[in-house]
Amino acid sequence: MNVYDGQKMADLLKPHGYSITESAEDADVAILNTCHIREKAEHKVFSDLGRLQVVKKDRLSAEINRDMLIAVGGCVGQAEGAEITRQAPYVDMVFGPQSYHRLPEMLAQLEHKVKGKRRKIVNTDFPVESKFDFLPTPDETPVSAFLSIQEGCDKFCHFCVVPYTRGAEYSRPALKIIQEAKHLVSIGAKEITLLGQNVNGYHGEGINGREWSLGRLLYDLAEIDGLKRIRYTTSHPLDMHDELYDAHRDIKQLMPFLHLPVQSGSDKILNAMNRKHNVDEYLKIIEKLRTARKDIAFSSDFIVGYPSETDLDHKDTIALIEKVGFAQAYSFKYSPRPGTPASALLTQIPEDVKAQRLAEVQYSLNTLQLAFNESMVGQTMEVLFDRQGKFPKQIIGKTEYMQSVTLDGDCSLFGNLLKVRINNGHGNSLSGEYI
Ligand code: SAH
Ligand code: SF4
Repeated sequence: MNVYDGQKMADLLKPHGYSITESAEDADVAILNTCHIREKAEHKVFSDLGRLQVVKKDRLSAEINRDMLIAVGGCVGQAEGAEITRQAPYVDMVFGPQSYHRLPEMLAQLEHKVKGKRRKIVNTDFPVESKFDFLPTPDETPVSAFLSIQEGCDKFCHFCVVPYTRGAEYSRPALKIIQEAKHLVSIGAKEITLLGQNVNGYHGEGINGREWSLGRLLYDLAEIDGLKRIRYTTSHPLDMHDELYDAHRDIKQLMPFLHLPVQSGSDKILNAMNRKHNVDEYLKIIEKLRTARKDIAFSSDFIVGYPSETDLDHKDTIALIEKVGFAQAYSFKYSPRPGTPASALLTQIPEDVKAQRLAEVQYSLNTLQLAFNESMVGQTMEVLFDRQGKFPKQIIGKTEYMQSVTLDGDCSLFGNLLKVRINNGHGNSLSGEYI
């Protein structure tokens, strides 16, 4: 979603004469689009700001003599607000993820100096208008495009900052989404990934005026000529619904790969996290999806070392990982976040225990991922190529399961779904030959 937001910021500023620079040194405006989900992401913001401060000073030196405006956008901006300008007084502007459609007007305000001094802007509103109504239509797109359809979250898992930084759940009207998808395809997108914090909780106004679910919306998107692949992320187990299972059964463009975060394999921890489902219910969802589409594979998110997690809870997580046989997954040490209920618990787990558990979870996940990738050897897979590899004459694409495939070829193959025979399966990628 941050990538999507970043592209939209660039689209918004383009008509005002701004373009993307290759390096910060050349930038008149530097915008950090930030993430607040874990402490590490937040620390990065402050170290990046330190680097930008040096660039700003250098640019103001006699030789160049051009100022650089520094802005902090995204969820750290939302959460920290004016605290950022206090800690880093060279920051000119702070804004949250729901107010970036006002960037052109905020930048114009910054250009205004009173007695040679610039006023700082801190905009962490959750405006009544939807930013989506103010975002311009893009004139270029990657082959694999993102489309935000839902934002925010009302679930309040006890570890998570999203409901506070992105705000309440909002679903865009289906008509707007379908128009945006058609436009993206008309300018070259072959694959669209629908985005939302709880994308399968989508409940927007349908074209018939009734509320539509994500499942319902997918059927209409699948009608778009030239749209070869559809994905959606991130889903919450509680928001799986019948029309969505049906969509997985019926829609061949809907890729057989689903990211369905579970966080833990222990009922006790799931309950403490306020996830509102147990392990058994999660397994039933996996089963139903496998019944709907037998070639489906799964990815997930795991948090290790949540407060009060015991060795036994941790073993339950490993057992769940092995039971489902995830094709891929992300795993994180629990990071206490300001203002969340879990951060105030007295049963925090020591860092070294978290590190040990993370290593064990990742060992298990990596073993499964390698086995999944190796199981592709000898198969012919459809791959959508969209980027240059490390070497000249090498290109990279993605399988239905999001595995990266490298192949000898050139950029004339970008945007095509090609049949590739897989010769090698590695930990993080596949390689093969075009047939
Ligand atoms: N809405 C999605 C997840 C969005 S956040 C869901 O509910 O599944 C993305 C991932 O970041 C989460 O799945 C979780 O694994 C991780 N995460 C969120 N807060 C975290 C925290 N405080 N510490 C560690 N990981 C966290
Ligand atoms: Fe965060 Fe996802 Fe829980 Fe919402 S559902 S609070 S985004 S982890």
